[in-house]
Amino acid sequence: MKILFLSPSGAPEFKLNLFRRFTEIGELVGYLSSMEGIEVEYFDAVLEGATNFEIIGKFCEKVDLVIFYTRVSDAPEVVYLAGVLKSISPKTEVFVYGDATFFIPQFFVRSEIEYVHLSGDPESAVDGVLKLHRKEVLQYPGLMAFGKPPKSSGLNVSADNWGWPALSQLPIDAYLKYYTEKKKDKPFETSFTVSRGCGTNCTYCPVPKKEGVKDRRRSIDQVISWIERTKHFAGMVKLHTPDIAGDPGWMSDFSEAIASMKSAPQWRSIAILNNLTTDLIDSIKGSGCWMIGFGLETMSLNRKLGPKGEQSHLIRCLKAMLDNKIIPEAFLMIGYPGQKDKDIRYMISLLRDYNVVIRPTGFTPFYRLRNLSVTELESLDLRRWDKRTFYDEKSARHISKDLFYRAILRDWDYVLSSAHQVEDQEIPTEREVLWMPAN
Ligand code: SF4
Repeated sequence: MKILFLSPSGAPEFKLNLFRRFTEIGELVGYLSSMEGIEVEYFDAVLEGATNFEIIGKFCEKVDLVIFYTRVSDAPEVVYLAGVLKSISPKTEVFVYGDATFFIPQFFVRSEIEYVHLSGDPESAVDGVLKLHRKEVLQYPGLMAFGKPPKSSGLNVSADNWGWPALSQLPIDAYLKYYTEKKKDKPFETSFTVSRGCGTNCTYCPVPKKEGVKDRRRSIDQVISWIERTKHFAGMVKLHTPDIAGDPGWMSDFSEAIASMKSAPQWRSIAILNNLTTDLIDSIKGSGCWMIGFGLETMSLNRKLGPKGEQSHLIRCLKAMLDNKIIPEAFLMIGYPGQKDKDIRYMISLLRDYNVVIRPTGFTPFYRLRNLSVTELESLDLRRWDKRTFYDEKSARHISKDLFYRAILRDWDYVLSSAHQVEDQEIPTEREVLWMPAN
């Protein structure tokens, strides 16, 4: 059976977000490639800068199944391409998965799309697609098949059976070339999933819907042996997880294991702020961890807290990270409901005081799309619904639009400029006596 894996180039949110290619795409390609009788080709249309002419050309090669990795902003393009595919090769089936199918599954109920991933692990979903394709079953948990919803939610598979990035199918040489040109002196970084599932259940996030709310992890032995296999070409590795600190014992045992490896790559990961403690941060000292990211989303100047924790806890964690030579990285949502211009300036100013790497995107209320009809969705320009730049008039009504765009473009001088200065009396006095990092 021949499968073509495609991420369309219509409205790319990130040109080279390598970690998604290694994990959400690469691991599923890897899972399929490990099956007998399956031949998979991955075409990275974004990296190739491929035109539709080139993508459509791929449809003339005889394939049994095309899998589209789809975000909301790609959805119209995927529907269009699926239609063209059916004109060229009516018997080729189409499977759609990716964030879009959690937010707008109704958009994909069309005759040109056979299978839509609704819930459960992606490995289980492709198992189901293959069974449906071979007519071994008529329905499968977590999959919409031929426009019919499944009778039950998708299945989780054991972490022992999760796919690993398909190093032979991913265009690693092209990634290396692009990465080297962009990142100059930095060693090449690969990524793979270490855990799935998050119980925080933020409304705007697809993770709990995709992965469930229970923390599930690969074993440390498996993780270390994968790092051993790839360290010859990757000087850095990103551990993909909703929350590395969700299992503190695993996190410190992993740190110990990687610290004892010969020529170990440096590593980084993501944690939920409220699950980080200063003891946990101290426990990973000397393990090669160079960065920990966390979703802060927003902070309120007046209440000194955000949806992901209190300011005092944030400051303690920042201080511990900097003491241990770990760079803190904060993910912010500009235009978060209730956020005001002064909150943004306050938050940026505070994070910069602690040398935090700031990663802003727009607030993404994609969950609001779930209740719209296909006609209503078609009347929206879904290409604008990309996570990086989406401006939501409703949530961001207290934010001036210029500040919104300057903030997501990380133009901090503009954001903090005197014209936008926060009035002195609104800055909490304790900020002046907070610990400040050396230099
Ligand atoms: S904490 Fe992070 S991963 Fe978990 S639901 Fe919220 S945004 Fe998603």
